[in-house]
Amino acid sequence: MFNRILIANRGEIALRVIRACREMGIESVAVYSEADRGAAYLALADRSICIGGAPSAESYLNIPRIIAAAEVADVQAIHPGYGFLSENPEFAEICRSCGFEFIGPSHDSIRRMGLKTEAKIVATKAKVPCVPGSDGPVDDEAEAQSLAKKIGFPVLIKAAAGGGGKGMRVVRDEAGFLTAYRTAKAEAEASFRNSSVYLERYLDNPRHIEVQLLADQHGHVLHCWERDCTVQRRHQKLVEESPSPVVPENVRLKICESAVRLAKTVNYHNAGTCEFLYDPKTQEFFFIEVNARIQVEHPVTELVTGLDLIKWQIRIAAGEKLTLKQSDIKRNGHAIECRINCEDPNENFRPSPGVISNMVVPGGPGVRWDSHTVPGYRVPTNYDSMVGKLLVHADTRDEAISRMSRALRELRLEGIATTIPFHQILMEDEAFRSGHFDTTWLEREFMPTFKDRRLK
Ligand code: ADP
Repeated sequence: MFNRILIANRGEIALRVIRACREMGIESVAVYSEADRGAAYLALADRSICIGGAPSAESYLNIPRIIAAAEVADVQAIHPGYGFLSENPEFAEICRSCGFEFIGPSHDSIRRMGLKTEAKIVATKAKVPCVPGSDGPVDDEAEAQSLAKKIGFPVLIKAAAGGGGKGMRVVRDEAGFLTAYRTAKAEAEASFRNSSVYLERYLDNPRHIEVQLLADQHGHVLHCWERDCTVQRRHQKLVEESPSPVVPENVRLKICESAVRLAKTVNYHNAGTCEFLYDPKTQEFFFIEVNARIQVEHPVTELVTGLDLIKWQIRIAAGEKLTLKQSDIKRNGHAIECRINCEDPNENFRPSPGVISNMVVPGGPGVRWDSHTVPGYRVPTNYDSMVGKLLVHADTRDEAISRMSRALRELRLEGIATTIPFHQILMEDEAFRSGHFDTTWLEREFMPTFKDRRLK
């Protein structure tokens, strides 16, 4: 086992890894940018090293500076967290070539999964159903146009290198296709430095279902069941839960087994997530992408399975075998996560960074609060707006929703606008409580009435 790990990330996920290291008796080394200097969570690591200026390019995305910090601190491994360099195959390769184990999959797997078009080819090989669409990137306008007609409108144009809900464009009819295609290519080039796009049928009213995977370096791949991340705004997740309230048991098994098959096809190791869209009407599911890293919403799975996914990531990277069998991974009760962002839900989720003048954190049975914030914490403007994740666990979905309402009522973050009021109203919403909604329901039906609604 490693005796010292560097965490190439910040905020709540850096703290999450620090906590796992502490419990495993591993020393943790945090890195920070000028914007995070003095942040309270850094004191919980055994050592912290400044790696540069506030812009990510000067710090959390700066490979030479991170490697230099790893050398200075004499660590054996690097945990990339999520975002930043976590899915950058060059970073994984450089870490390993400099003698630091990268706590994640092989750089080859990251590379193959990083392009969604490549991942779909792998899925097809593994006999996992994909959303009908082009067989890979379409670089020719005329070809794209005729293919779109064949697929049938509405069509989705997606950036092959896209991520974070960005780089997607819905085209409703043939007339609008060419302009949309050109814009999508230009946007893909500007955002991802890769203009490659592909086409998919735009599914009506899908659910987002994803499968958590754990795989060791000895060929054992296990699934840790699914998470339902259908509550989205602009293709970005706001609430995640497990189990899915709508997927029947036989389909759940099929989806999870498909994810395992896909991972085996690429000799995947470490933690990963296989994402699908699910049509509750036909009970069909379609692969969309793999996230070759730990995800924001991993604690949902930890609550229902009792596993510690970060500790498993570290053990797997150290070469240990998964000591679990698939039948050991049981589901227990229901878990929900609400992402608490410093965004104003009354102002179209406008970011509202600032100082958290005072805060009260919820507690009691079945509540988990993963956050690096403390009273007096200044939320930097340079990074994403998530300030914490509030999770609950209970026997049933109804009880979990009541528990989440209760915990949200206790949670106070003063001095900044947050998504807490949004989540409170959501927990009381009838459609949400029924479990029947889709990935565009929030924007289509919930948000238009949000401002006029008061808590019961
Ligand atoms: P990203 O990597 O940017 O997160 P994904 O491919 O994972 O992109 O898709 C994110 C979300 O976009 C999905 O959860 C879903 O809501 C929507 N989406 C993606 N592909 C389709 C599709 N073919 N039809 C309908 N919605 C889609």
